[in-house]
Amino acid sequence: MKNIAYAKSFERLWQSEAEAENKLYNKLFCIAFLLCNPAASIGFYLANDPFYLTLLYTHCISSSLIAVLLLLHYKKVITGQQMSFITQIMLICFYTYLLAQPHRSYAQSCLNLTLGIIFTGLILRWPVRYALASSLLSIILYPAAIYFLGEPSALKMFFAEGGVFLLLAQFLFPFVMKVSVGKDKREFYYRYNLQEQNVELEKQKTIAENATKAKSDFLSMMSHEIRTPLNGIVGIVHIMMDEDQNSKNRNELLTTLKFSSDHLMAVVNDVLDFSKINADHIQLDEFAFDPGLLFENLRKTFVPRTDEKKIDLIFDIDSRLPSHIISDSVRLNQVITNLIHNAIKFTETGYVKFVVREITRDDKTVRLHFSVEDTGIGIPVEEQPTIFESFTQVRQEDSENKGTGLGLAISKELLLLFKSDIYLESEPGKGSVFSFEIQFPYLEEEVTVKPVPLKKIMTAIAFPQAKVLVADDNKINVTLATMLLKRKNILFEVAQNGKEAYELFLQGGFNLILMDLRMPVMDGFESTALIRKIDQDIPIIALTASAFGDEKDRVHASGFTGYLTKPFIPEDFYAYIFPFLGVQTAKVS
Ligand code: ADP
Repeated sequence: MKNIAYAKSFERLWQSEAEAENKLYNKLFCIAFLLCNPAASIGFYLANDPFYLTLLYTHCISSSLIAVLLLLHYKKVITGQQMSFITQIMLICFYTYLLAQPHRSYAQSCLNLTLGIIFTGLILRWPVRYALASSLLSIILYPAAIYFLGEPSALKMFFAEGGVFLLLAQFLFPFVMKVSVGKDKREFYYRYNLQEQNVELEKQKTIAENATKAKSDFLSMMSHEIRTPLNGIVGIVHIMMDEDQNSKNRNELLTTLKFSSDHLMAVVNDVLDFSKINADHIQLDEFAFDPGLLFENLRKTFVPRTDEKKIDLIFDIDSRLPSHIISDSVRLNQVITNLIHNAIKFTETGYVKFVVREITRDDKTVRLHFSVEDTGIGIPVEEQPTIFESFTQVRQEDSENKGTGLGLAISKELLLLFKSDIYLESEPGKGSVFSFEIQFPYLEEEVTVKPVPLKKIMTAIAFPQAKVLVADDNKINVTLATMLLKRKNILFEVAQNGKEAYELFLQGGFNLILMDLRMPVMDGFESTALIRKIDQDIPIIALTASAFGDEKDRVHASGFTGYLTKPFIPEDFYAYIFPFLGVQTAKVS
């Protein structure tokens, strides 16, 4: 059988297992010799051998010593194996003494000793070194004692009357022990492995069960989260269709419609973000940016909301911050925005305070501490441990405060990408503080900010009137895109698939192509590849509903200039396409 390489941890386990398994046999071994050795003298007595008296006295002493060893084992001074081993060594010394005494015959002694070693081999499980020591001692001491302490002629008699078998049995003893210990150890190893596999399988089963549960929880939560605003949209659209064109309710209905669709979009975006993070599809896109500018822009976005709620917005930013830090400003912005947004949402009086402190700095990195504090309603202690889990909402929120319950889960996951964690201190009625720390590489010199694609802007400006090619097979998407273009007096042509798009492009005159990715006849990738063979410069923007990074990577690798994810709101649409048409986004309303 193949030799198994046992791990150290297994060896330790096996030692204690062997000790526990053989506890009884070690005791049985000692008790058997304690009783049988003095009893053996009866055989000599019956055979009228005067040697029986010496034997009886000697074995009374050996049995008393065995009794002491049993006591020591009982008191846990020595282990079971040590007890049986010491007994064996001690007995070998006594047998040596006895064998050296004048014998009329060695037959009985040899028979008894051979039976003794066979019995030992059958019931004991020792480490091989114990068995080797015991056998070596017997093989050397027995004949030597007879030869040197007894009469040299007695040695011949000893061998003739069974000594050969006795020594052969002693010689075989370590091998027998090795085989039987090895077998027990292998069996135990397989049992142990099986048990470990069972534990692992049990773990995997629990993980799979939890994943299934999480999936069904997620689906039921999502169907609720998505159906609620969708219900609003469908219902209101129906009411509006029945209403008179000039009805006074129209504005109110439109406001509700906008609220429901905004909320639906927020839910879908959050869910996609969350799934992207969970599927490891998000990677930080790091570049140098001015942290002061980022925080100032953030402050500006929140001022209207805090003014409206009549609460103070305090930005307390450390003046020692480096001029540029290298990180993913978009994701950092997303985390902070989320926390400030929540703080404002759940605060009716008092203030919302954003604090950034520099904690440490070395040649290359700076460690910043961020906190968002509010004097709002706070979060009950029992809710705090689960607040960062997906879909957790402490209380039923009114429609104005309605969130997706994913914001904090997303923030926590994003912070993990920054190798950071988020902390919460909160007291109901007093407010909450969310905080985290991040270590950033930094630069103190001036850095050039991301360049704008100048060539394309220049080309576009050269046209008196911009013209866009919209390639999409979905009528609603085409209607939306063309309506948005019409509003800004931008000319356009529509292609219903990639092939049509390519043919229209060949006719020329376009400044920008909006290309859906999935279309019948010819998809957006193929069409773009054909266009790129002719024109390397025309901006081609991919329009897709897929939110996953691998598609984004494919888009970038396939010759597209940019990537716009559906659904989008008009401002985002204009902000994205205008630079390609040579229109400054700042001038657009
Ligand atoms: P949501 O989109 O619902 O706000 P979040 O994950 O951002 O989802 O927050 C989860 C819940 O945690 C919120 O619904 C709210 O009950 C509670 N919460 C978050 N921030 C605060 C805060 N600053 N003050 C009080 N409660 C908060």
